Amino acid sequence: MIVATPRPLVDPYGRSVSYLRASVTDRCDLRCAYCMPERMKFQPRHDLLSLEELARLIRVFIGRGVRKVRLTGGEPLVRKGVMTLVERLGAEIGRGLDELTLTTNGVQLDEFAMPLAAAGIRRINVSLDTLDPATFEFLTRRPVLANVLNGIDAAAAAGIAIKINTVALKGTNDREIPAIISWAHARGFDISLIEVMPMGEIDDDRADQYLPLAELHAALRRRWTLEPIAYRTGGPSRYVRVAETGGRLGFITPLTNNFCEGCNRVRLTCTGRLYMCLGQNDAADFRDLMRQGADDAAIGAAIEEAIGRKPKGHDFEAAYRCGTASVARAMAVTGG
Ligand code: SAM
Ligand code: SF4
Repeated sequence: MIVATPRPLVDPYGRSVSYLRASVTDRCDLRCAYCMPERMKFQPRHDLLSLEELARLIRVFIGRGVRKVRLTGGEPLVRKGVMTLVERLGAEIGRGLDELTLTTNGVQLDEFAMPLAAAGIRRINVSLDTLDPATFEFLTRRPVLANVLNGIDAAAAAGIAIKINTVALKGTNDREIPAIISWAHARGFDISLIEVMPMGEIDDDRADQYLPLAELHAALRRRWTLEPIAYRTGGPSRYVRVAETGGRLGFITPLTNNFCEGCNRVRLTCTGRLYMCLGQNDAADFRDLMRQGADDAAIGAAIEEAIGRKPKGHDFEAAYRCGTASVARAMAVTGG
């Protein structure tokens, strides 16, 4: 089948936007301390896009040149009926869409691994910040590490490639990180370390959590040989190979090494707002546009207009200096 290639979406800084991260819900079955408060106030259900609206909107993005879609949240697997969306989008693979993927906390992955693989998902990111049950419960406020580990096993057994994402948190998991890397590499998983970003109001002080990855990189270099490699997945991770384990290790460093220059992404919230930058407040609303009866051409034009406003980058450094959240919404709202 020959698929016409649409004109690429290009922002004012010449960056092609080919990657959409879509949050399917802001709800979650965990309460990670760096992500949301224990008593998180979620969006009213009637404000959410229906799964049909999400599928339609994402298809228009694909028609306008988006080639990679990541479903995220909140926790995408808690959205009722989420598999109908995954299946609809899976059917677009090879018809303009190169890859459909998912970021999950893994709690329900045991149940979803096989259907996800059957729908065409070949790679997923699983967020896991500790292998210690007590630290896991402290960090996520839920005692479900065993479910996550079972879910990871189920996804691997279903043939899905797994990348572990670990947020580096001062005083919480920093000393455990080499063990998490060894654990991931022993199972053939890539792993990326992430700097905690000042997004959303939480119960704790962010400055207490922040661990610059440059420090961690230096500590890991004293332990292992880190060989720079050119491997990229279209995301912000910069990879090395750990010679001793043979595995790939990524660093996502929004603070110490701003990655905005090569940004190819935009983010859609579960209420239909498109954020052109994770760390800025400007957004374009697609829910009202769709509910007012806009056709696909009008939605496509609105997508182009929004990409035309994509800002140069975030202001996370300034937020840490001021001790404030850079943007008021949590990562779980914008979609990680
Ligand atoms: N619930 C799913 C999960 O945890 O994988 C998907 C959504 S979650 C918001 C996506 C990613 O964002 C996770 O890897 C999480 O650790 C990360 N994250 C959340 N808040 C963050 C913050 N303030 N700074 C850095 N990463 C954050
Ligand atoms: Fe939920 Fe993911 Fe946020 Fe943790 S990081 S509270 S799993 S949305």
